[in-house]
Amino acid sequence: MKKVVKFGGSSLASAEQFEKVGDIIKADPDRVYVVPSAPGKRNSKDTKVTDMLYGCYDLAENDKDFSKELAAIKARYDEIINGLGLKLSLKDEFKTIESNFKAKAGKDYAASRGEYLNGIVMANYLGYEFIDSATVVAFDKNGNFDSEKTNKLMSKKLERTPRAVIPGFFGAYPDGSIKTFSRGGSDITGSIVSRAVRADVYENWTDVSGFLIADPRIITLPEQIDTITYTELRELAYMGASVLHEDSIFPVRKEGIPINIRNTNMPEDPGTWIVESTAKKSKYTITGIAGKKDFCCVNILKDQMNSEVGFVRRVLQAFEDQNISIEHVPSGIDTMTVFVQQDEFIEKEQSVVAEIHKLAQPDLLEIESDLALIAVVGRGMKSTRGTAGRIFSALAHANVNVRMIDQGSSELNIIIGVETRDFEKAIKAIYDIFVTTQL
Ligand code: ASP
Repeated sequence: MKKVVKFGGSSLASAEQFEKVGDIIKADPDRVYVVPSAPGKRNSKDTKVTDMLYGCYDLAENDKDFSKELAAIKARYDEIINGLGLKLSLKDEFKTIESNFKAKAGKDYAASRGEYLNGIVMANYLGYEFIDSATVVAFDKNGNFDSEKTNKLMSKKLERTPRAVIPGFFGAYPDGSIKTFSRGGSDITGSIVSRAVRADVYENWTDVSGFLIADPRIITLPEQIDTITYTELRELAYMGASVLHEDSIFPVRKEGIPINIRNTNMPEDPGTWIVESTAKKSKYTITGIAGKKDFCCVNILKDQMNSEVGFVRRVLQAFEDQNISIEHVPSGIDTMTVFVQQDEFIEKEQSVVAEIHKLAQPDLLEIESDLALIAVVGRGMKSTRGTAGRIFSALAHANVNVRMIDQGSSELNIIIGVETRDFEKAIKAIYDIFVTTQL
């Protein structure tokens, strides 16, 4: 068995946390490839090393003195090194970083040093080989991640390296300069390593015991999800449920490798399994509920729309021309509605309206704002009758007016549009009918 283990920033914020991580790795000889994040917050008032690096580089870029800020970053690592009793000095590394900052090596270079240095510390602590991700994670010259090139480089390198630490979050352009993924991107690195070594499991260790059925800021102590499929997770992540970087699904998906979300502070918890497909029934009809606020919709009416060839395309063309992405397009006989994100739409709304009139000549056009979308996701919905009925009667009882309903062909989710002010109330009502009343 081969396991890839990724540890998030809060799991590596101090020497004490590092020791927990060391115990986890040593407890299972299959945990052979380790992907660390940069040290995160030690308490709620603390600053993540990544943010300290961005701040420090900002000064460097503006030709200001950054020595105090850089020393504070070095102190974070020294605290860990000394706390673990390691014979390791990062003095030379910090000298290099200082001169590269002065030479304005770039924001991505700056941010990447958080995981780079943590990788060196981790490799020293575990006695594993350190591999610089710049040599095995490739981006093309436009900054797009090159998955096939990376997979070749990474698998070739790891074939010859039985145990290694590969820092998360960054790689390099073809010319060797550093490029990072978006924030939280160490999750993607863990997935890339898992694919390259065809791992049996990708363990992603964080500070929660997995995914919850609903947002704990809305539902008090929601139930946890035991098993979720990649596709269900995509739907929930798109709607804002965040534990894992949403792009980290893609590399493991190519090899069907399961991801296991685990809690460094409660290693005995089994966590959540994210799998390609499963025969396991979820405990409830639904797997999860997530949602996002701040949508607008454009309602369009045209008599005999259904018999006018190309009408929908022409309307959508108006959005495309203004470079606005479309979220949902529910339609009726002579009406269609286009849902878009409010902040993206608002500044271009009049240009879009003018364009729709020019291209499609609607009879009526109306814009509504402050809408929220809620996704009720679950592989169990396909085989259960009455799910939609239960959702809508729960919403009716809670006095929530449903503005839009959209069920995709996969029957994996139902998307419901409500007014923003009803958002929390609607999620509570749906959670109650599917979970609380079933307990
Ligand atoms: N350290 C980076 C961040 O704070 C990447 C990560 O932790 O995954 O976003």
